[in-house]
Amino acid sequence: MLGITQTTNKTTLLRYLALPQPEDKVQCMYIWIDGTGENLRAKTRTVDFVPKQATELPIWNFDGSSTGQAEGHNSDVMIHPVALFKDPFRGNNNKLVLCETYRHDGAVHPSNKRNSCNQVMQKAKGFEPWFGIEQEYTLLDTDLHPFGWPKNGFPGPQGPYYTGVGANNVHGRDIVESHYRACLYSEIKISGENAEVMPAQWEFQVGPCEGISMGDHLWVARFLLHRVAEDFGVVVSFDPKPMPGDWNGAGAHANYSTKEMRAPGGMKAMVEAIERLGKRHAAHIRAYDPNGGNDNRRRLTGRHETSSIDKFSYGVAHRGSSIRIPRQCSDDGCGYIEDRRPSSNCDPYSVTEMLVRTTCLNETD
Ligand code: ADP
Ligand code: MN
Ligand code: MN
Ligand code: MN
Ligand code: MN
Repeated sequence: MLGITQTTNKTTLLRYLALPQPEDKVQCMYIWIDGTGENLRAKTRTVDFVPKQATELPIWNFDGSSTGQAEGHNSDVMIHPVALFKDPFRGNNNKLVLCETYRHDGAVHPSNKRNSCNQVMQKAKGFEPWFGIEQEYTLLDTDLHPFGWPKNGFPGPQGPYYTGVGANNVHGRDIVESHYRACLYSEIKISGENAEVMPAQWEFQVGPCEGISMGDHLWVARFLLHRVAEDFGVVVSFDPKPMPGDWNGAGAHANYSTKEMRAPGGMKAMVEAIERLGKRHAAHIRAYDPNGGNDNRRRLTGRHETSSIDKFSYGVAHRGSSIRIPRQCSDDGCGYIEDRRPSSNCDPYSVTEMLVRTTCLNETD
């Protein structure tokens, strides 16, 4: 790819978006996770009513042979609406519809990690599990080189970029700002953003979200980011180590608490949970990226504010450990723990499911 992109004049679209839309015609953009377990797909249909809940919308299908989701010669994959969000691109009553994927015979599609996550969250409802995920990502030019980096060289060493300001320190803030407002409009529980350590790398946080809503909100927030960046002619990468060498990778720290951890004296429950996690490190690593730990291996080196992929560790305010107890939570004696291992391209359904299986359902293997 040469990186030469033909762009249309984006303001022309506004004329058509300003046309009155018949009230009984609602555009519903169905969104699902494809066979990579990492990339999103979407397509739209018109419905004749304003849906209030996802379950009011029809089940639909797509051609799985084009998304890495084909099952034998029957390539139809069914998409079941599960969560509904306001569409910030089309406005009016139009919706974004997050879907789960099923095979034609009704079986859960292997790439659908939401179904079992949801079952686990139902079982553990009494624990009131809350999550907050810090989603790191990298902006790339259409030639897939980091956005704003010199084309024939490298920016200066890391240091001034994290939470930086100024055109010499940050690249693509207009995308970050647009995404933030798009999330707020769509009622995604976005809780903040910051520029990251590597130039052109950013983070946004979603949470706290209870149970299954963590994965739902994060996946739709990712969709919004891809879609906003598309408008700016910029590419989003969730690769955990987009630039090899002395550049920070990208993670998805998962902050996690139960009702017990949040209550006075919750430190005891926090430490118990951490001890259980320590006994199941390998299984968690396998669930923390879409390729069984292989993606994260490039990132979890023990350098660049990460722990080693092969070793479990924890500590108060320790950014080189697998699990960090935030300083404030240590002072308060309650709060939440931060699992720093999940990769930026993780499936949040798999991550939250494993956290609950290990710490609430006491699963071991
Ligand atoms: P860091 O200091 O690691 O950069 P951030 O401020 O980026 O942390 O993110 C902290 C995340 O923790 C936010 O997404 C927030 O919603 C989440 N969070 C806060 N309190 C809790 C809690 N009790 N349980 C789970 N997550 C929480
Ligand atoms: Mn066709
Ligand atoms: Mn953070
Ligand atoms: Mn970060
Ligand atoms: Mn963090």
